[in-house]
Amino acid sequence: MKRFIFSLILPCILFSSCNQQHSEKQSRAAFLLGTRCSFRIFDSNKQNSQNVLQKCIDTIADIDSHINVHADTSTVSIINKNAGTNRFTAVPSYLYPLFERSLFFAKKTGGACNPVLGSVIRLWNIGFDDACIPSSDSIHAALSLTDYNALLLKESGILLQQKGMKLDFGATAKGFAADEAAKIMRQNHVQHALIDLGGTIFAVGTRPDGTPWKVGIRNPLERRGKPLLSLSLVDSCVSTSGVYERFFEQDGIRYHHIIDPKTGHPVENNVLSVSVIAGSGTDADALSTACFVLGYEKAVQLLVSEFPHAEAVFICKDKTVRVTAGLKTNIKIFNPLFRLAE
Ligand code: ADP
Ligand code: MG
Repeated sequence: MKRFIFSLILPCILFSSCNQQHSEKQSRAAFLLGTRCSFRIFDSNKQNSQNVLQKCIDTIADIDSHINVHADTSTVSIINKNAGTNRFTAVPSYLYPLFERSLFFAKKTGGACNPVLGSVIRLWNIGFDDACIPSSDSIHAALSLTDYNALLLKESGILLQQKGMKLDFGATAKGFAADEAAKIMRQNHVQHALIDLGGTIFAVGTRPDGTPWKVGIRNPLERRGKPLLSLSLVDSCVSTSGVYERFFEQDGIRYHHIIDPKTGHPVENNVLSVSVIAGSGTDADALSTACFVLGYEKAVQLLVSEFPHAEAVFICKDKTVRVTAGLKTNIKIFNPLFRLAE
């Protein structure tokens, strides 16, 4: 069995050339949330930038320690162990919106992005050494433990009502973490910065010269190389969900890490990757997963009717690039094998 984890190879490549006359670049990187997280601040106040970078890393390390499902003592692991009991588990108040917003998106997307899919995700364990194709019986059993209505959120704590249910914030945690990092930067008067959490990119302000940041979206069919397209970002986040981030191959078939909550198998549809742009990283991240699960047509309906302020780029299997109305003039396609659909 061949196994690949590509979260280290950034799905988005940044073009961050800028006028550095008055602003100096300060950067830090760390491996957190299962991916490489990097932070770049362009500011003349070097000491402030260094303090902010440290705060961002400390905060994301703290988020990681609470939501890591592979650490027995994390808050999410304790919630999972307490499933089916009457023991509510307390979570730090700053983390509560991650639970609330993830549940909100589960309801809005009809479970396409579902934080209670942990039992199925754990069976496949894609991205880890013991990834495997589970038996249909075990998938069936795990699917019966994924009802997000059984996730109770109270001020005093969190409870999963059925034994065996498991939370997994893989689809929203990086977006939430990007929001927290952007908040720290803004509170500390940083005006030009880029936060890159393995494919979830938050652009704080503009480039130092006042022009929008340019972010590249990679070709989902290639392991590395030039971006397929670029788009402009100011004070917003782009999150990409694709077939290439984490996967394994067996008998020539690729099994990637985004699960269709209806079948319990990796999603199969007309889409190779979806990038969603929104003012909130949590929203962009939840929506990119949901849109990937829903496929192009249903995803566009959802965005237009429920999330008109979010924009999306779909890279489809038929080599078309499909974008929502607000993005038509905001993207540049570099790869001649792909074309912008009407
Ligand atoms: P990435 O983590 O590559 O940015 P996503 O944001 O789409 O991609 O999140 C995928 C992760 O979310 C998976 O690794 C898994 O932990 C979890 N996941 C997989 N399928 C779903 C789903 N349908 N709903 C919610 N979470 C999911
Ligand atoms: Mg996501």
